[in-house]
Amino acid sequence: MGSSYDETPMVVAKDAPVPPPLPSAPLTTAVKTTLGRRSCCVSAAASESWDRLFDDAYRADVSIYTSGDDIIYAHSSILGLASPVFRGMFNRKRRSNKPFSVPIRGVPAEAVRVFIRFLYSSRYEEHQMEEHILSLLVLSHAYVVPRLKRECEDQFERKFLNAENVVDVFQLALLCDAPRLSIICHRIILKSFKAASSSEAWKAMKMSHPVLEKELLETVNDEANRQKDKEKKAKDRKIYLELYEAMEALVHICRDGCKTIGPHDKVFNEQQGPCNYESCKGLESLIRHFAACKLRVPGGCVHCKRMWQLLELHSRLCIDSNICKVPLCKSLKEKTRRQKKKDDMMWKTLVKKILRTKSITGAPYFSLAAAL
Ligand SMILES: [Zn+2]
Ligand SMILES: [Zn+2]
Ligand SMILES: [Zn+2]
Repeated sequence: MGSSYDETPMVVAKDAPVPPPLPSAPLTTAVKTTLGRRSCCVSAAASESWDRLFDDAYRADVSIYTSGDDIIYAHSSILGLASPVFRGMFNRKRRSNKPFSVPIRGVPAEAVRVFIRFLYSSRYEEHQMEEHILSLLVLSHAYVVPRLKRECEDQFERKFLNAENVVDVFQLALLCDAPRLSIICHRIILKSFKAASSSEAWKAMKMSHPVLEKELLETVNDEANRQKDKEKKAKDRKIYLELYEAMEALVHICRDGCKTIGPHDKVFNEQQGPCNYESCKGLESLIRHFAACKLRVPGGCVHCKRMWQLLELHSRLCIDSNICKVPLCKSLKEKTRRQKKKDDMMWKTLVKKILRTKSITGAPYFSLAAAL
């Protein structure tokens, strides 16, 4: 007899029932469908029963007094189970054998009815939620019903938040400790500040919570500055990329020639293929002007000045001036090396920014060396 303890149950109990399959065993489609349907039907039927219990108030022992003196009848066991606040309230009153009476005022009677029904069956009608969602959020917080609170937050987020009500909901979310909802409201306020700040709710907030208004305005300002900063960076980036492309186009014109200008050491090929550089056209007319301008001195005409700047930038970016075909590349490089210009730092910063911007977009080096 003692030895049987060492044996496995399967061996000892010869007439034991066949064990159910292990949880990992896959269910057949038929079984899955039946189970799914049944659980769904059971859930709906149960909800119906809970709703009926609430509607019929059968053996109800709680009277809830609402605004407008409507009375809602309910069961202390259901309310106590759904909310720790009700539970505490009923535990305190249990000593006297009178029926419980609970006042819930300050919100519409209909909202209280929707709230209590939710405690029974977790159900509500769409239009009731839409109409009373603010009150339901408050009630869910006051009576500690996290399920309903989550439902309200979710409904606000997906359907009911707009520029008109966002300020009210924001304040309520702060009061009701609903951090996700308050963050979403804050984002909407920043995004549609004009509409939100001209709403009635904003005016009321300004009167009742001036500190909150001040804080909101500060965040709006911060956001505007951040946005400006972002736009400026994007603009700068565009300029640096354009300059980089102009530098590539300059090398391309001087080395291969483009539509109207050929390289000085080769015969001009008039049957050029299509040019891929956007800045070529402008650059060609600038080069033609530079070659012909009578005021061709540094700091001369505005176009020549621009050309000098482009040539200087090129010489600072150019990897090998000995094999470079761009005019003045080598002499400008040597000139830079000889003289310590005051604006040397400025040029260095510009070169660094151009190369860094270009490297972000995927071309790590100035392509002069590779192109030669
Ligand atoms: Zn070209
Ligand atoms: Zn000129
Ligand atoms: Zn060069």
